[in-house]
Formats: sequence, structure tokens, C-alpha cells
Amino acid sequence: MAVPDEDAFSTVITLNERDERLPLLLNLLKERGITWLERRRDRFTDAELEEARLLVAWYFFPNGRIFAGPRMGTTYDMSDACQRCGAGARQTSAMIIEAENLNVLEGQRAVATCYEDLLVDETLAGALAQSGATGISFRGVFAAFEKRGHFQLPWRQLCGTHTLPPMSPRSTGVAPYKPCPCGRSSFHTFEEVPPRFAYRASDVANIRDVNMTWEWFGEVNFNGDVSDALFPYPFFLVTPKVWRIFRDAGVTGFDWLPIRVEED
Ligand SMILES: [Zn+2]
Repeated sequence: MAVPDEDAFSTVITLNERDERLPLLLNLLKERGITWLERRRDRFTDAELEEARLLVAWYFFPNGRIFAGPRMGTTYDMSDACQRCGAGARQTSAMIIEAENLNVLEGQRAVATCYEDLLVDETLAGALAQSGATGISFRGVFAAFEKRGHFQLPWRQLCGTHTLPPMSPRSTGVAPYKPCPCGRSSFHTFEEVPPRFAYRASDVANIRDVNMTWEWFGEVNFNGDVSDALFPYPFFLVTPKVWRIFRDAGVTGFDWLPIRVEED
């Protein structure tokens, strides 16, 4: 069924949930005392992606993680942000990433940092700019070397300039795990439940090609000192037009999840 890579930390096996080999595999793992993680996700055909109003660009870190953000020296304006969790922090500098993680960029055209900052190579950034896609701006990307300072990379950070309204409460598989009084942060998804984002039709009447979620996801660690903070982050929702540009550039490593649109 699958040959584990002896040197790897883990082996990924993807099966349809109705595949008759799935219960056999789970029994085998139990018998052998092998631990496993189950991750349930929806998969879509290109035709289904083409028809979607918006797609969640979900990066799954196939080559490892890139550390970035405030602790690397990226700066933020906090005047409109929640002072408890940092949701709403507005980036004011180029994106600075950990130089030790540069290998993750090799052979890739687009990646996300561990805080969902989207990075695209210069050529892909040019294609996106020329396409006339709306709701985007670009920033420089620098690698921070401990002793030698910052070096600019031939990459651009793709930034979304438009924030959507909060998603519909009928979204499933997404919830705050440690709600902040601002109500905006600590959203997360579950391994066992496929995330399904729903929006009211009126909420997506005025979208751009690139949009940010109102909700901010992930771990929060903010005590007022930006340089020591771990901020939550919004997700990117893009139109099929942007997805096609990524696909035609040969980008891998992203799951594209159509949103559901509820009639008002
Ligand atoms: Zn907050």
C-alpha cells in the first residue's frame, strides 16, 4: 500500500475516505503499534475550482516551514490592531524571513511563511501585476542573517488590500480556540474535520481578486512588545483568475478550497 521513507519523520498517504483499503490500513497501523494522524480534507476538480466565487489558498508546507514576521524584524503599525492579540496589525516594512529557512524556497515559485505571508518569485509577481488582478500590492522580501545583516531576495510578498466581512456562522471546521474579547483572533481548523468556509451572498458582492479574511488564525503571543510577538494572521481568498495564474506557473503546495455562498 505504501513504502515508508525510513529517513523521513513521517510518511503521507492520501486516500479517498470511501477507499476500501482505508480500514485495512488503519487496522494494520493498530496491529503494528504505529502512531498516525488523520487529516480529512475536501478535494476538488479543476472544473469545480473554475466555478467557485472565491478559493481559500491553503498552503500545506510540503518542504518545511519559513519563520518570518515581527521576531525577524518585520515592523507593524498597531494603531488599529487589538492590543491583546495583535489582530489587525498592519505591516509597514518589507517581509524579513529567517535565512536558515532559505532552502524551503529552492525550486518553488510560491510559498507561505508559517504565518501565511504569501511569497512569490519575481516572475510570478510580474505575471500577477500584469494580469490586472485587483486587491493586491507587493513588498520586498529580505533574508536575515545573524551576523551579516539583511539581503534582498528575488521574491515578492503578495499582500491583500481588501478585507472581507466576517464569515457566515454556517462555516464548519473553523472556530476560535481561545477567544479574545475582540472576537477576531485565534481561529483554527481541525485535523479531522474538513474546513468549509461559508459567506453570505451580500458579503461577496464587492470582492477583489485577492481578499483577506476578517478572522485571524493561529497561535497568539503578544504582550505589547511587537519585536517579541507572534501574531495571528488572516487567510487569503482568491478568485479563479488568480488560481489559474498560480496553476499555469506550476505552483504546488497549495490546497484550493471553494467557499460556499449562502443566498441572503
Ligand atoms: Zn484580540
